[in-house]
Amino acid sequence: MISNHLDTLFYDVSNDALKQEIKDTYNSFIRYFNKLSKYPVRKKYNNYKKSFYVDPYKIEFSDKKVRLEKIANNKKKNRQKLNYIKLAEKDRIPTNVIYYNPRVILDGDRFYIGVSVADEFAPKKKIETTDNVIGIDVNIKSVVTSDNDVYKAITYDKSYKKALKKEKRAQRKLSRKYIKSKELKKAIKDSENYKKQRQIKNKYTRRINNLKESHIDYIITSIKNKRPKLICIEDLDINGMKEPKENKYIRKGIQQNPFRKLLETLEDRCNNYGIKITKIDRYYPSSKTCNKCNYKKEDLKLSDRTFVCPKCGLIINRDYNAAINIKKYALEH
Ligand SMILES: [Zn+2]
Repeated sequence: MISNHLDTLFYDVSNDALKQEIKDTYNSFIRYFNKLSKYPVRKKYNNYKKSFYVDPYKIEFSDKKVRLEKIANNKKKNRQKLNYIKLAEKDRIPTNVIYYNPRVILDGDRFYIGVSVADEFAPKKKIETTDNVIGIDVNIKSVVTSDNDVYKAITYDKSYKKALKKEKRAQRKLSRKYIKSKELKKAIKDSENYKKQRQIKNKYTRRINNLKESHIDYIITSIKNKRPKLICIEDLDINGMKEPKENKYIRKGIQQNPFRKLLETLEDRCNNYGIKITKIDRYYPSSKTCNKCNYKKEDLKLSDRTFVCPKCGLIINRDYNAAINIKKYALEH
């Protein structure tokens, strides 16, 4: 946030925002000295999500509105109703509690407000569970459960593909404008057309993120509706997966597929719902083992979509077999 716009920044916004930036920098250096994180990097002005801190004691929520400090640059206006901003959703944030670390975030297109509240005030949705146990196999093409429910990956979704294409086109147009302004030796931040195009690009980025989120939500909700007491997943090495693979399509699939987000959200939601979750060893050969007779088929290729057991003659979908094995392994250990 601290940038070459400092001179205007100082007088336009609440002083808490600036103070908090310095505190955040301090904290990130402390984390670095304690070897908890990497050396802090200065944020580039255009490439990061913009956000600012609000003093928790100066923020007020009602069920429909939020009151922030000093939005207008005029004392008279600040005292008036202008500081009340309508929230998009009713009753989303609990009122009359202490808020921690409130931040207003701009994702390039719209504004959001995020607050933390103490655990007892947070909205929790515990569900009644049954004795059901579900194993889940996650791969590039789909998410398969041990009940043989198949959720195709979002990379096959038509509207997702369309949004990706449109974002790519908007990005191309944006960089063309950037090059043009460089040739004319104009500062890019002054160009209104550049700003407009950036807004358009950000709109598509937002759409892509929303589609990803709703897809993940759909998968998790359908799994939750089976009311399992335990969910078993493989402990995936996502960073290892991102290393260059010989196959271009596999690499692209891994890049576009929000694995990490899916697993993180699954864990988070399960905690909220009161469902236990276990991760099994990532070196357990879940797709190579037969779920009936435990025969290990070493020569199974990545292209083999069906698993054929040479010992007991079982013919089964590869991912379904893996999901059953994950469930079995988790129950045994
Ligand atoms: Zn077998």
